Formats: sequence, C-alpha cells, structure tokens
Amino acid sequence: MSAQIINGKDIAAALRQDIAKRVSALPDKSGLAVILVGDNPASHIYVSSKIKACAEVGIVSYEHALPASATETDIRHVIQNLNVNPKIHGILLQLPLPDHLAGVQESLVQAIAPNKDVDGLTITNAGKLFLGMKDGMVPCTPQGSLRLIKSVRENLSGLKAVVIGRSNLFGKPMAQLLLAEHCTVTTAHSKTSDLPALCRSADILVCAIGKPRLVKAEWVKPGAIVIDVGINRLETGKICGDVDFDSVQQVAGYITPVPGGVGPMTIACLLLNTLNAASA
Ligand code: NAP
Repeated sequence: MSAQIINGKDIAAALRQDIAKRVSALPDKSGLAVILVGDNPASHIYVSSKIKACAEVGIVSYEHALPASATETDIRHVIQNLNVNPKIHGILLQLPLPDHLAGVQESLVQAIAPNKDVDGLTITNAGKLFLGMKDGMVPCTPQGSLRLIKSVRENLSGLKAVVIGRSNLFGKPMAQLLLAEHCTVTTAHSKTSDLPALCRSADILVCAIGKPRLVKAEWVKPGAIVIDVGINRLETGKICGDVDFDSVQQVAGYITPVPGGVGPMTIACLLLNTLNAASA
C-alpha cells in the first residue's frame, strides 16, 4: 500500500488565502522588514520568495540589504530602528550571517523586539513555547510541520513522536509543539544509538537532518506519518529531502514530498506570524 501524500503546496495556498482575507480587513497595513546581509545566493532566493509571498497577501515588505562587510553595530542599528518603527510588525534577520559575524549572530537575533520576532527565535518566544504559553511567536517551519501533521490527524494525544534533529530553529521547537499536543516525544541527533529502531517505534516521524535520503523504509513503522523537513541539493542540481521518498512511501501511512511539502508551509507561517503581530 502506498502512503497518502500530504500536499504542502495546497495546504499552504489555502492558508495564504485565509491570511490575505484577514490582512485586507486590518485597519492599517501590516509590514514585514527583511534584513539581508551579504551575498549568499541561497539567502537571496529565500528573501525574494518571502517578499513575493508578502505582496500576494497584501503585507508590505521592506528589504534592508547590507553589504557582506557590514559590522555588528551596523546591523544592530538597523534592528533597533525597526523595533521602534510603527509601520513594521515583523522583523526577519535572514540567517546565516556572513562568516565574520557568526560569533554575534545569536546576540543580533536577541536584539529583535520579541513582539516583532516573526521567526520565533528570541529567548522570550522560545521560553513561551517551552512554558506552554499561547501568546508567543512560534518558529515558522515547526509550526507549518505541525499543521501538516494535523491536516491528516487532528488528535495526536498519546502518539509516539520521534524528531530527528535538535536545532534551535527546528528540532527543539518541533519537539515542544508535539509535547503540547500530548505526544510522547523523543528527540534524536547524531549521537543517538540505533536510530533505525527508535524511528521504527514512531507513529509520527519528523526528519530535519540535512542528509539526503538518510531515512529508509526499514526505519519506518507501517502507517506512520512521516514529515520530511530536509532540503538537500544533489550534484545533479535536484532537490531532495532527508527521507528516501520512493521506498518510504511504500510503508508510511502519510508522507510529505520534497519539494512541495514543508517548504511552502514555512513561508505561509511567516505571513501568519506577521499578520498576528500586526493584529495584536
Ligand atoms: P542543523 O542545525 O544542521 O541540525 C541538523 C540536526 O541533525 C542536528 O541536530 C544533528 O545532530 C542531526 N544529525 C546530523 N546528522 C545526523 C545523523 N546521521 N543521524 C541523526 N541525526 C543527525 O539543521 P536544521 O537547521 O535543523 O535543518 C535541518 C534540515 O532541514 C536541513 O536540510 C535544512 O535545509 C532543512 N530546513 C528546511 C526548512 C524548510 O522550510 N523546509 C527550514 C529549516 C530547515 P547533532 O545536533 O548531534 O549535530
């Protein structure tokens, strides 16, 4: 039996349509500022797709492009101005910053006002998620992944979930979201022993590793919900996920494709966080 494919593109499109309606009903325009430092080609592509998505739902975007030579003070100054600008409801610092700023990246993220932190990466928002407080900003990719899971199963209570990956951006917040849904959650990482056996015990398997097609059919419990967060570029130029889609779809109950699964949800949730910040 072949798994049902969870179509992130369609689910994200429906969410964007709903966001557009709600944005048009706001008394003032909602604004998202995107700070892009340097000339990382992937970051440029991500930023332009975020700006395009904003335009489609009626959110005004403001791009702040700084040269690769920008200093910590330059970036901090831009963030501080945006923090107090009433036209701006969301601030996104596109990561990663150029290498010479790697040591101050975290401190710059923390300079963003928590109520404008649409990536949900400040200590305040991460802490609210950890404490189960509902009024924080939840990071976009885990938020979108949870929506995909809930599109096929509303009640997750008591299910066993395994999240592979423990990054601040994805793995840790994803585990918290599943815990809040009353799943029994295990977070796996590069030091986890017998990963295939652990994965085979999961009703929900979320993979955010960054290793092309690492997760094989033998790792998956028959009927499981498999969410593939990975984006890996192969030598051929093709994009693939962390899950060996062709074999895993023979075993899983539900599976997200790459591309067309989690990716579109990340952008839709960024728009949703901006809308929510503007409505607060
Ligand atoms: P990351 O910070 O590099 O974290 C990768 C995680 O995978 C780490 O926790 C690492 O363990 C673990 N890992 C690495 N090799 C492993 C192995 N062989 N077995 C088990 N665990 C292993 O990456 P990230 O930012 O979380 O992103 C993960 C993937 O998701 C990447 O492909 C990224 O491009 C993609 N992504 C996609 C979206 C989207 O919108 N679709 C958004 C964000 C990220 P250690 O902690 O022990 O090193």
